[in-house]
Amino acid sequence: MPTRGFEYRSGLLCCEDVSLEEISSRVGTPAYVYAARSIVENYRAYTRACGAVPHTIHYAVKANGSLGVLALLARHGAGFDIVSGGELFRVLQAGGDPARVVFPGVGKTADEIDYALGAGIAIFNCESEAELELIHERAKRRQMRAPITLRVNPDVSAETHPYIATGLREHKFGIPIGEAEDLYVRAARMENLEIRGVSCHIGSQILDINAFVEALSKILDLIDALRRRGIPIRHLDLGGGLGVGYRPEDETPEIGDYLQALLEKLEGRDLELHLEPGRSIVAQAGILLTTVLYRKQSASKEFIIVDAAMNDLIRPALYKSYHDIIPVRAAGREPVTADIVGPICETGDFFARDRRMPLVEAGELLAVCTAGAYGFALSSNYNARPRAPEVLVEGGSFTVIRDRETYADLIRGERTG
Ligand SMILES: *Cc1c(COP(=O)(O)O)cnc(C)c1O
Repeated sequence: MPTRGFEYRSGLLCCEDVSLEEISSRVGTPAYVYAARSIVENYRAYTRACGAVPHTIHYAVKANGSLGVLALLARHGAGFDIVSGGELFRVLQAGGDPARVVFPGVGKTADEIDYALGAGIAIFNCESEAELELIHERAKRRQMRAPITLRVNPDVSAETHPYIATGLREHKFGIPIGEAEDLYVRAARMENLEIRGVSCHIGSQILDINAFVEALSKILDLIDALRRRGIPIRHLDLGGGLGVGYRPEDETPEIGDYLQALLEKLEGRDLELHLEPGRSIVAQAGILLTTVLYRKQSASKEFIIVDAAMNDLIRPALYKSYHDIIPVRAAGREPVTADIVGPICETGDFFARDRRMPLVEAGELLAVCTAGAYGFALSSNYNARPRAPEVLVEGGSFTVIRDRETYADLIRGERTG
């Protein structure tokens, strides 16, 4: 089962040392449940593999920006990767250190830049010349120097869903690698900028480590060229994007193997390594817990209707992504082939189609696996459904890190005329 921190004990699915039945009786369903130790363990796998190489691991907030998750990682020393002012606010509220925050993104507004400069973030990863000029101007007003890298687009193709590939010339992200050198020269002449390094991010859910190695080679060539021109480059930020297995038969790349491949190339280079992993830290450490509402047979199909829906977890509808779905009670049962669907009025509201799975009855609990990343973060109130609560389990105890929304929450800030 493609999860970490979840296992059957005496036939009952548990998150760390707490049974999912107990969590459901406390907070109801649908609910997101996260295994804290697995999240920390994944983060530590990054820092451990870096060993003596100077590094900062910036957890990508957009994968799962819930305060409880951010606070957990902040306590263990993580830096953060933000893509908006709102994410910076979340990091600060969770006790994150602004001096360990990097800010990529193609559309930073002047307000967001001011907020980040005021908070004293570590680095802006700039994605265009116009943005560079705006950051320069805002830093000048404050009579300070803004620390920057240019996010370079290395033009490597990584095999992933086209919506989450970002490292090809045709994508909106970064500065084409062929134009980067000239822009660095221009940036070096801007007084209120301080060049720190080079950054890139080639996409998400990448399972082939060679794609990262290829990007790294291209970036290292660029760094050599920049250093020859007297531009001091101290760090290299390779972004995030390491994938995880979603299907039971998928292999999840080991974080240590991935880093080993990178570190070999960095040897003797006098570069600090920065990474921005999101998915590989939280995806497998989370599930979406849901209750079977009905079974329904049509002429040719068996439907299992559950109380979670695409507003809670949109990945199957948005990316056609696969999530393993398992019963919380493991009792031996007949297998069926069924569609597992939610209550929303859209045919796209499904978690699985024609899935072979154990037959479950109304009232039973199911776990939608590998839902810790881009799960709650992409959830909405579509169909006026209050958003699900989130529970963080640590050993034998658990904390409700977000309450289930109420009907009153649904209309907050609205008026009738
Ligand atoms: C989304 C994103 C990440 C994180 O990607 P994962 O696939 O979740 O590791 C890192 N850096 C940037 C710039 C991103 O946009």
